[in-house]
Amino acid sequence: MPLDEKVLAELRARLSGRVITPDDSAYDQARTVFYGGIDRRPQAILLPQSDADVRQVVTWARESGSELAIRGGGHSPVGHSLSDGGVVLDLREMKGFDLDLERRTAWAQGGLTAGEYTSAAGAHGLATGFGDTGSVGIGGLTLGGGVGFLVRKFGLTIDDLLAADVVTADGQLLRAQAESNPDLFWAIRGGGGNFGVVTRFQFRLHPIEPFVGGIFVLPATADVVAGFLAEAEAAPEELSTIANVMPAPPMPFVPPEYHGKLIVLAFMAFAGKVEAAERALAPFRGLATPIADMVRPMKYPEMYGPEPGDYHPTAVGRTMFVDSIDRSIAQDILARLEASDASVRVAQLRVLGGAMARVPNEATAFAHRASRILVNLAAFYEGVEDRPRREQWVKEFEATLRQKDNGAYVNFLGEEGPSLVHRAYPGSTWDRLVDVKRRYDPGNLFHRNHNLPPDSP
Ligand code: FAD
Repeated sequence: MPLDEKVLAELRARLSGRVITPDDSAYDQARTVFYGGIDRRPQAILLPQSDADVRQVVTWARESGSELAIRGGGHSPVGHSLSDGGVVLDLREMKGFDLDLERRTAWAQGGLTAGEYTSAAGAHGLATGFGDTGSVGIGGLTLGGGVGFLVRKFGLTIDDLLAADVVTADGQLLRAQAESNPDLFWAIRGGGGNFGVVTRFQFRLHPIEPFVGGIFVLPATADVVAGFLAEAEAAPEELSTIANVMPAPPMPFVPPEYHGKLIVLAFMAFAGKVEAAERALAPFRGLATPIADMVRPMKYPEMYGPEPGDYHPTAVGRTMFVDSIDRSIAQDILARLEASDASVRVAQLRVLGGAMARVPNEATAFAHRASRILVNLAAFYEGVEDRPRREQWVKEFEATLRQKDNGAYVNFLGEEGPSLVHRAYPGSTWDRLVDVKRRYDPGNLFHRNHNLPPDSP
């Protein structure tokens, strides 16, 4: 049912923040998310300014029966932060950052991006680990787990989450932490946006100076790919790596003769001293003559490079965990990448372990602590008619690489469906999450997410 003028007037009266509707000139910009090809038309986009605003929106949506989507940084690969015909609670104007230098903690509002948080904390030589991209929202990333440049040294983002303020479906504002609402605190550390709107997160901060990092590019042969993964596993925990095996993009730091050839474009992040970093990096430098080596002492926030504001790729993807990548699997990866002509195609490989693996599986709702390597497969598509064959390619690629670990990282799921959500939350994690869901959101108000239906058996 369309929102009539009376309802809109009521919403505007209830909120101190803006209400954007389809007749507003800001509407199309406001409903644009990171990925292209996602064209959903909410009836209103509500931009709260405060916890009180968030409570008003949640209460109104519950009472009116309007579908509610929650938007943090807008990077959901499946467009969960938009609703067709419902309303969007868009947190992007709630960007408060309140640092306690003495305790090395920070309260951060849900509308901050990883880059904004990291710059603010980095100004004091401190950091909390988020992902590999500055424009990703801290909201969605944290609630799914958070795997980034510091994962081996400090663990997942949720391992540094100390508390959160959550507006639950009944409109209450609850503090979730070890001492209060511990079941909710457990569930929001991996269970996504299923339980309420997090208006503020409290994180632990770590000293992050000195730091060595940057982009490192090698030619991709089977020996180099397998060697890179072996070295990344053997490396000290200070070093986290993200290796993108892909055709070389025409970037200024890649000499023209390599453009279009398969390379390993890696992000190297060493949270420690320069001499120790040099020792840890030496084996990688010995794998082949680097095509580009921009790894250097830097300020940690520099890891987030500039991003064009109008970049909205159309892409399909699959995510999985694997136990190992030996030479023969590396060969398969290269063959699959060679066999596609997608303008961008990539196998992204992240060696896990370290601090992340030391947290017991049952301590949080992220239940993949023992998983060894996180894999993301992605291909860009050009227009809807190109999409099916790119889908087919990522699907077959996934089948080629599948090993014993059947888990999936919720934040990288590029498609939806109950079986995928079960892969993200295996066994008793699922049961426990559904139990918490029943308690805090029995009506499934928060369902624009990888959903945990409260009526699930
Ligand atoms: P949104 O689309 O705004 O939100 C996604 C969903 O999260 C919402 O629908 C809602 O259910 C929930 N949500 C968001 N904020 C809140 C809140 N405050 N309260 C309640 N629910 C909320 N992930 C990693 O772990 N590591 C990476 O390195 C990484 N890199 C990425 C790079 C790119 C380019 C992209 C597109 C994604 C990447 N991701 C990474 C995945 C990312 O963590 C997820 O897509 C995440 O959901 C994005 O969060 P967001 O707030 O930007 O997204």
